[in-house]
Amino acid sequence: MKKSIRPDFQYQKGSFYCESIELSKLVKKFSTPLYVYSENNFKNKIMRYQNALKNLNYNIFYAVKANSNLTILKKIKSLHCGVDLVSIGELKRAEKVGFKHEKMVFSGVGKTKEELLYALRLPLHSINIESEAEFKMIQLLVNQYQIKNPCALSFRFNPDVNPKTHPYISTGLKENKFGLDREEILKVLHDYFSEKNQNLNIKGLSVHIGSQIESLTPFKEALQKTLDLMTAIEEKFPIKLKILDCGGGIGIPYKGNEKLSIESYGVMIQKLFNLEKNRRWKELQLGFEPGRSIIGSSGILITKVIFRKSKAHKEFLVVDAGMNDLMRPALYQSVHEILPLKEKFTKGLQKKTDIVGPVCESSDFFVKNIKINAEINSEDFLVILDTGAYGMSMSNQYNSRLRPAEILVSKNSYKQIRKRDSFEDLIKGEIC
Ligand SMILES: *Cc1c(COP(=O)(O)O)cnc(C)c1O
Repeated sequence: MKKSIRPDFQYQKGSFYCESIELSKLVKKFSTPLYVYSENNFKNKIMRYQNALKNLNYNIFYAVKANSNLTILKKIKSLHCGVDLVSIGELKRAEKVGFKHEKMVFSGVGKTKEELLYALRLPLHSINIESEAEFKMIQLLVNQYQIKNPCALSFRFNPDVNPKTHPYISTGLKENKFGLDREEILKVLHDYFSEKNQNLNIKGLSVHIGSQIESLTPFKEALQKTLDLMTAIEEKFPIKLKILDCGGGIGIPYKGNEKLSIESYGVMIQKLFNLEKNRRWKELQLGFEPGRSIIGSSGILITKVIFRKSKAHKEFLVVDAGMNDLMRPALYQSVHEILPLKEKFTKGLQKKTDIVGPVCESSDFFVKNIKINAEINSEDFLVILDTGAYGMSMSNQYNSRLRPAEILVSKNSYKQIRKRDSFEDLIKGEIC
């Protein structure tokens, strides 16, 4: 088993640390399973984005669904980011921590009438429309409720580009449910501009082709197609588009080295939008919607070994975190690196082992057949790395399990940012 190569999560004096906090101390105080985040880590990611995009006219809209903890949102807001939202629940979270409506974009294939009615009256940066039916619904609502100055609208373009990621997190292929393709957008605009009253505020295009993308090519291809479509729209219709939302999706290194850096993404964007010959594109308000690449590597999940279970040809460590706490392995067959809390266990006799949760599902495992120290046993702790994104935000209470607590570490201090569920939380809202 290798040592962690991650910044902000390192062994010191034989014990695992997040920044300057020894994790065994947090485990004693808050028990397990426990999510721990490094503030320095996500601050650093945001600064890298800001540096890579400098001199452009842009906003970062952090994708709230990656990790929607209120304290984390507040920290992200203080770093001058906006938010990308996919439900009114997320919008209300963002309002609660004080994000300005102008710094919000609202995406999602299934916005309900109620959600749209609420959002249309707000000065959001943009509602990203994902179907002709949604566009029609918006028209209907604006007319029916006589909404003055309705919210800015963009079309989410599906460019039919293969992001070469897990099929469950690919969103920009023709067969995916997301966005409208080129012909659909042109048709919707054709119909709209054929009508007598044009009372909507159509501002631009957005494109988001998937998540955990580790090469620049699909991003480039998608953006080129989006710019081509923009040109076509402006040629055909009496409209000048102001917004181009480039989506999120940059992958993180769950294993080994970084394959696609924020910096090289930035260089590609700078080339595309900052060249003299692209004077027209310089006027666009660009948007970026990173989620995973900001918060993914900032979080870990600490879990306790409940039992070692040795079968004839198989070795298991049964741990106290389950697929309900961290769903990604069961949902996307993703593999997270796992390290022991005590550095001494990175050496010594290694045995092929499955690390599994306590939930009654065979998909409830974190990793199979990894080589891990054969002496790790009950009451020892393991750290599941890179679980800051789509970890806690996807957690649930399946098997009537209490969701974990969350801790935010900053240098040599820490703060509990979510309490562990209680039994009362588990049955909240139920009637008997
Ligand atoms: C989920 C999502 C994102 C964030 O994706 P990451 O891979 O976490 O960067 C951005 N935009 C939209 C519309 C999304 O649905």
